Amino acid sequence: MARRGVSYVSAAQLVSMARDPRVAIVDVRDEERSYDGHIAGSHHYASDTFTERMPDLAQATGAKETLVFHCALSKVRGPSCAQMFHDYLSEAKEDSGVKNIMVLERGFNGWELSGRPVCRCKDTPCKGVCS
Ligand SMILES: [Zn+2]
Repeated sequence: MARRGVSYVSAAQLVSMARDPRVAIVDVRDEERSYDGHIAGSHHYASDTFTERMPDLAQATGAKETLVFHCALSKVRGPSCAQMFHDYLSEAKEDSGVKNIMVLERGFNGWELSGRPVCRCKDTPCKGVCS
């Protein structure tokens, strides 16, 4: 499998990447997501249950090429979940289409502070039409 380690992406880069249907955004914040809003179209796999839900995430994103993880600041939860999922896919018996695992620099807070659109829908998963 030609997957490299976890790398970082800026909010500006993610804006254009997010238009690509092969890219999925994975929010690993916990309850903050429900009151702070989220990036339109992002998946939600809270860090406190992340380990148990990795098989679901693998299934939901198997057709994607790039996954971009983030938490509030992308300092602890985002990078550690990204690394865990990277290792999980590397050890999985079934091959996944995911080639790149990335972390959004400065997380959701940096995204919002730089004036990027925030979605406040209550849909699970977010359908990404309300940004
Ligand atoms: Zn939404």
